[in-house]
Amino acid sequence: HLDVIEAAEPSIHAFLQVSGDIAREQADAFDAKSAEEKAAMPHLAGVPIAIKDMIVTKGIATTAASKILEGWIPPYDATVIEKLKAAGMPILGKTNLDEFAQGSSTEHSAYGPTHNPWDTERVPGGSGGGSASAVAAFEAPLALGTDTGGSIRQPGALTGTVGVKPTYGGVSRFGAIAMASSLDQIGPVTRTVLDSAMLQEIIGGHDRRDSTSIPEGPRPMVAAAMEGAKRDLKGFKVGLVKELGGEGFQPGVQARFDEAVRLLEDMGAEVVEVSCPHFAYSLGAYYIIMPSEVSSNLARYDGMRYGMRVMPPAGVPATAANMMAYTREAGFGDEVKRRIILGTYALSAGYYDAWYGSAQKVRTLIIDDFNKAFEQADVLISPTSPSTAFKFGEKMDDPLAMYMNDIATIPANLAGVPAMSIPAGLSDDGLPTGIQFIAPQQRDEVMYKPAAALE
Ligand code: GLN
Repeated sequence: HLDVIEAAEPSIHAFLQVSGDIAREQADAFDAKSAEEKAAMPHLAGVPIAIKDMIVTKGIATTAASKILEGWIPPYDATVIEKLKAAGMPILGKTNLDEFAQGSSTEHSAYGPTHNPWDTERVPGGSGGGSASAVAAFEAPLALGTDTGGSIRQPGALTGTVGVKPTYGGVSRFGAIAMASSLDQIGPVTRTVLDSAMLQEIIGGHDRRDSTSIPEGPRPMVAAAMEGAKRDLKGFKVGLVKELGGEGFQPGVQARFDEAVRLLEDMGAEVVEVSCPHFAYSLGAYYIIMPSEVSSNLARYDGMRYGMRVMPPAGVPATAANMMAYTREAGFGDEVKRRIILGTYALSAGYYDAWYGSAQKVRTLIIDDFNKAFEQADVLISPTSPSTAFKFGEKMDDPLAMYMNDIATIPANLAGVPAMSIPAGLSDDGLPTGIQFIAPQQRDEVMYKPAAALE
């Protein structure tokens, strides 16, 4: 994989840093284990993995693709990294993303964009375009991503990879750089559904260091994926979300999705239409709640604690407040600043109830929609993203067009339910499309069965 990385990186730029020496050391340590020791380890033991640079790695620089964290070397490992190390999985390096995971194309990285291996003039999606491209280009067999509004699933759809956002709280967020804490979740990026199941079983489970972690054992996801591979879905009810599809979705994306629905029916699944009327407000609620949490979480980058510090120029008083202002002006990119401003406004006195309070009420209505839908179906489906990979620059001057990419993925984050995207075939333009499966809270295994069946 290190050789493939060397050959592919000039045209892909999936990695911000390759940790070849560390990976080799870890691989050697695994090789040196006895056969009995190896047999007691998880299925993926010894398989290397790439890590989105939004997850902290002890001794390996972690930037969140922001200038403000340049040069910061974390003194600790995220819980998921500790688990990968315990599973004997070598760490190939840190992958590119939109700065602080804010974006849908990886163009907002302070270190230049990642290219889509299917067409290097196109974006790989975002924010986790680096992890998705690394897996799609065979630079890494597996990767980790983070998903706040679709950053694992939408790049999955645009690069023809599998991406899973587990139930909120199902995988520890300790050591995941916080974007919007009530929405953030770490999850697998892989080439097959079974790989994701194995990886999620390794990284999941309760963690006392994350207060939102669910105190419950891992779900039987590998067993569900193996069951699904038998391609028998008799007795399984699939809910087609009426509001997620049709108008606004590229015809080629919709066509592949419709074919996937027919395949599910052919395997015995019963497909029913379900309505989630409040999904129409999910993007609006997300773009209040998410920036509010971003503005609060990113307050910690103050020039005191991490990475860069910019002192005021001569003539400007060298106060702490001025130092912070100059550091943040130089350290944050435009999209991050836009969201900090939006969030600060939404949370300010007098506006809190009108904006943040209303958005939280909408969130409750969306959760109610899910609860009702899951009374009618075991799993919900939709296209993952309304379009295939777009060209660089196409949506950079139009934040709203960029935000529309996540129309189908955001509801799952707002409700905390698990969701995954798997490849659904190529659109008429020759580019990958994705189908999304959504399962009830803490029932992650339920989506693995039909996903593995369709694969
Ligand atoms: N694209 C979405 C955003 O810009 C989702 C980001 C994410 O999931 N981290 O907010």
